[in-house]
Amino acid sequence: MKRLILDGPGALHWEDGPEPVLDGPGQALVRPIAVATCDLDPAVLQGRFPLQGPYPFGHEGVGEVVAVGADVRTVVPGDRVVVPFQISCGDCPACLRGRTGNCTSHPFMSTYGLGAMGGLEWGGLWADLVRIPHADAMLVPVPAGVDPVAVASASDNIPDAYRAVAPQLADNPGAEVLILGGPAASSIGLYAAGLAVALGASRTVYLDTDPDRLKLAAQLGAEALEGPSDTRAGRFPIVVEAAGGRKALVAAINATANDGWCTSVSVQAQDVSLPLLGMYSRCCTFHTGRAHVRPVIPEVLALVAAGRFDPTPVTTRTVPWSDSLDALLDAPLKLIAVR
Ligand SMILES: [Zn+2]
Ligand SMILES: [Zn+2]
Repeated sequence: MKRLILDGPGALHWEDGPEPVLDGPGQALVRPIAVATCDLDPAVLQGRFPLQGPYPFGHEGVGEVVAVGADVRTVVPGDRVVVPFQISCGDCPACLRGRTGNCTSHPFMSTYGLGAMGGLEWGGLWADLVRIPHADAMLVPVPAGVDPVAVASASDNIPDAYRAVAPQLADNPGAEVLILGGPAASSIGLYAAGLAVALGASRTVYLDTDPDRLKLAAQLGAEALEGPSDTRAGRFPIVVEAAGGRKALVAAINATANDGWCTSVSVQAQDVSLPLLGMYSRCCTFHTGRAHVRPVIPEVLALVAAGRFDPTPVTTRTVPWSDSLDALLDAPLKLIAVR
């Protein structure tokens, strides 16, 4: 079986890897048909994020089920399914609470395609075949009428954006949303803008310095505001920090209104001191952390199926499977390889 291996910054190669096999009754084998880059992938390829290669690459995508174990009830061969990037069993205490990214049935941070951090044994989605250890708990069928290519990022980056605006808008319907966009979590910031609009925010402001991302944010229905992350745009009850770095993080917190929610979806690799007195005074709820994607993937797909949210403007490049390697080295904002 062919699979793509990331060796390190600027270096990828195809190799013949071991063929995954079913070795338990709850498992499935899936053939990826549309695989997307996560915001971390170009960062690793450009040496901006420290993930040590070599490792099987790819952790966002839709696949076709090709085989299922005897106990699998929710999918059959031929189904098209979103594969969550995190491995989750569905019935440990963490999974039962919806904290599927912290499933306790497997080593901490078990994921596809993120190197030693996620465990090398799960493989990557940029491959001919992938083994799903808990098919019923993990796989989410793509709804009828939804193009699998459109939702290839529903494994990770779209639900990551969703968790930063959906519970907050459910708690505060119609609230105004501010997104600090930037290179660290570029697609997540844009998806958050589109999802805030879809979920009824009365105003969605997307702040960034990059003209291409600003154009995409406007296309997604947001108010595109050009400027650095500490541009004063007022205080907002819901703020999403996707830009990365201390300046943006502090700016996001400072832009959070009384009793507001600030979610940092960028991965801050350095320790940052926070303006805690202001956060305390304004009763700021701050959250950062890996998204628990599996429970919200059906909600994201339902929005797409209903025509309320279209993630496709964020896909800046789509290529045939065989062109994956060269296209990845160009590091587009969101690449999807299709076969
Ligand atoms: Zn990711
Ligand atoms: Zn679990």
